[in-house]
Amino acid sequence: MKEAADILIHGGRVVTMDSSGAIYENGAVAIRGDRIVAVGEKEKIVASFEPKHKIDASGCVIMPGLINVHTHAPMTVFRGLADDLPLMTWLNEHIFPAEKKINRDIVYKGTLLACAEMILGGTTTFTDMYLFADQVALAAKRAGMRAIIGEVLYDFPSPNYGPPEKGLEFTEGLIKEWSGDDLVTVAVQPHAVYTCSPELLKKCYELAVKYDTQFIIHLSENDDEVRQVKEKYGMTPVEHVEKLGLLSPKFIGVHCVKLTEKDIEILARYDARVAHNPESNMKLVSGICPVPRLLEKGVTVGLGTDGCASNNDLDMWGEMDTCAKLHKVATGDPTVLPAETVVKMATIEAAKAIKMDSVVGSVEPGKKADIIVVDFRKAHLTPVYNIYSHLVYTASSADVRTSIINGKVVMDNRELKTLELARVIRDVDEIARTVIKPR
Ligand SMILES: [Zn+2]
Repeated sequence: MKEAADILIHGGRVVTMDSSGAIYENGAVAIRGDRIVAVGEKEKIVASFEPKHKIDASGCVIMPGLINVHTHAPMTVFRGLADDLPLMTWLNEHIFPAEKKINRDIVYKGTLLACAEMILGGTTTFTDMYLFADQVALAAKRAGMRAIIGEVLYDFPSPNYGPPEKGLEFTEGLIKEWSGDDLVTVAVQPHAVYTCSPELLKKCYELAVKYDTQFIIHLSENDDEVRQVKEKYGMTPVEHVEKLGLLSPKFIGVHCVKLTEKDIEILARYDARVAHNPESNMKLVSGICPVPRLLEKGVTVGLGTDGCASNNDLDMWGEMDTCAKLHKVATGDPTVLPAETVVKMATIEAAKAIKMDSVVGSVEPGKKADIIVVDFRKAHLTPVYNIYSHLVYTASSADVRTSIINGKVVMDNRELKTLELARVIRDVDEIARTVIKPR
C-alpha cells in the first residue's frame, strides 16, 4: 500500500544541502501538505508514494529554494533611477527625494514586482526592511512567498507611523497581527546605529526578546559610519552594539564591511549573524566584508542582495557568483569561499542566519517544502563535473524551471501561478512614469 503525497518531484539530481551534503543522482522528493515527507533514490520514493501531482525533473537539479537574507523589496520601483554616482549625491539628490513619494500603494505594488522577480529566480524566502512593512507583508502573502518583514525604525518621523515613538508600537502591532502565519514573520528592524539613539536600540532589542524574533540592523557599512560612531561614542559600531547589550543569536548585522579583528571576535563570541550583500557594497564602494575571516571564527553568514537601487536586481545567482569571486580577489587566494560554501550561504547558512534552519534551507523530511527545480539541459550547464560550481559560476535565474513554496507550486515552466506578471509590470511602469519621475 503506497502512502499518499500531494507532489512527487522525480528524476532529477537532488542536492539536499543537508548536514551530510547528500546528493541523490537519480532522486525524488515527496511532499504532503506544506512539508517534505521523503527524499531519496527515485525507485524507492516512487515505489512508496502515490502522488496527486507529479513533476518530472529529469535532467534538472532539485534543491532548496534560495534565501535572500537582506533586501528592501519595494525599492524595485527605483531600479536604475540613479547609478554611477558618489554615495552622498546618489542618496541626497536621488534616492531620498524619490523616497518622499513613497506611499502604501507603491510599496505594495513594488513588493509584488520584487516577489515576481524573486520567484522566477528561485528565491523562496526573503528578509525585508522598509517603510509600510504591513504592505510588504500583504504582498509577500499574496505572492505566496516566505518572508521576514520589518518596519524600518529611526529617530525621525516616518511617513508611515508618524512620530518616532510610534514606531515600536507599530512594530508590536505587526508582530501580533502576523503571529502564527505560515509564511510571514515580523522582525524588529532599526535602520542603523547612526540613525537610532541608544535608547531606541535598547527598546527595539527588548521588543525582539519579548516576542522571540530577530533584531536586524545595518551595521559597519562604510568608513563614514564608523567615523561618525567613533566621534559620537568613542568606539566602533560593533563595540557600540555590544555595550548596549544587543548582541545574541537574534542579532543580524547587515553589511559588516568595516570590521576590526576585535569586532569579528565580538560577533563570534555572541553568535551574532551577518547578512552579506557583496554587489551592493561594490556598487556603493563601501568596501568588502571580511567573510573568510568571519567564517574562520565560526560566524554564520547569509547572502543577500540589498535593495534594487544599489544592486540593481534581486538575483541570488548573480550574488553567489560575485560573492565567490570578490573574496578571491580581495584575499589573493583562489581557494577561499569555494562554490559549495557559497551555495550554503544562499541556502542552509542563510536559514541559520535568520534562525529558520529548522524550517527551511535544505531538502529534508520534516522541513517545509520550499524547493526549486533548475533545468540543467542547457548548453551553458553541460557537462557537469561539480554541481556546486555550476550553481555558483554558471546557472542563472532563467534556468529555474519550477518554484515550490510551502508545498505550493508558485511557478512552473517559467510561469507565475500566484501573480499576473503583465499586470505587476504595468503597475510599476506606471508608478515610475507618473510618480517617481514624471516628465
Ligand atoms: Zn539594506
